[in-house]
Amino acid sequence: MSVLVFAENADGKFKKSIFEVVSYAKAIAAQNNTSLIAISIGDVAEDDLAGLGKFGADKILNVSADKLKTFVNQAYASVIAEAAKREGANIVILSNSFSGRGLAPRIGVKLGAGVADGAVSLPDQTSGKFIVKKTAFSGKAFAAVELTSENKVIALTPNSYQVVESGANAPVESFVAEAKESDFKIMVKDIVRATDKVSLPDAEIVVSAGRGLKGPENWGMIEELADLLGAATACSKPVSDAGWRPHSEHVGQTGIAVSPNLYIAIGISGAIQHLAGISSSKVIVVINKDPEAPFFKVADYGIAGDAFEVVPKLIEAVKQYKA
Ligand code: FAD
Repeated sequence: MSVLVFAENADGKFKKSIFEVVSYAKAIAAQNNTSLIAISIGDVAEDDLAGLGKFGADKILNVSADKLKTFVNQAYASVIAEAAKREGANIVILSNSFSGRGLAPRIGVKLGAGVADGAVSLPDQTSGKFIVKKTAFSGKAFAAVELTSENKVIALTPNSYQVVESGANAPVESFVAEAKESDFKIMVKDIVRATDKVSLPDAEIVVSAGRGLKGPENWGMIEELADLLGAATACSKPVSDAGWRPHSEHVGQTGIAVSPNLYIAIGISGAIQHLAGISSSKVIVVINKDPEAPFFKVADYGIAGDAFEVVPKLIEAVKQYKA
């Protein structure tokens, strides 16, 4: 028995969410008195691979086949499941990223495992059971699910577990796994980046705006505030439907679910469909000129005021703080 964690890379680099997921997997390995193996697929520098040891990996398997350089759901699932079988790992852990959400059920089928995606804390094993707290109903609620199967797959929500640096570099081994031809029915031909800014699902701070901003010409102050805070920008659905902002920024039930440390909502009413995508945020700040706006009910801090007066003052205050 051991724990296997998939260390997904973005353009050959590991994001903070991967250090979180390795730290989380290490804690589960410690709970079960076993070792932690990390697997990386694609081109990552040897030093970065070995560095996963600092977050608790005991060894790192490196898969570098040409055909696997870009993400292919079926093929990656086959390779990770194969690694779990060969290493005797009965718990597989991934980030609940776009790729992780696609991989988790596929690996689950291959290993006959129970799957918990959207996990937000360590499993409770105190009663001899294996109970995972996870988000449910598009983030509107939490569910405690018991994984009763011998094999288990867990996808961890970004920003829900602290990075813990505990160890030193770990050995890197090459891992060769033959993915089948049938695993390559869908191939990525080209990747076109929508933006070079902070990626929304991984962002620690999100500055989000809604129809209260009146039109796309007023997003300059939202972008300025986001840049100053090192934040990603987001929006409500009607804003992206109207073409004021790209669909990649649309947050909510039918858009992206985010879990930042700070979510700043400006001129957004707080409809239940929007809240579905942001309820795992740690601190919510709402700026709305209507003191009765529903968003204030879930806010940690609220400013009842006109965005066109409040946001420029906020920008000035952040500039002064940073000076
Ligand atoms: P509005 O509801 O028009 O609210 C604008 C807010 O701005 C108001 O509260 C107003 O007081 C405030 N305001 C106006 N002027 C100012 C000012 N000068 N300064 C400060 N505040 C100001 N919505 C999503 O966001 N995400 C989803 O994923 C989503 N999925 C949906 C799925 C379904 C099936 C359905 C039916 C709806 C969905 N919606 C979704 C739409 C959702 O119900 C709301 O209509 C939407 O979230 C409202 O967007 P908004 O708050 O930007 O606009």
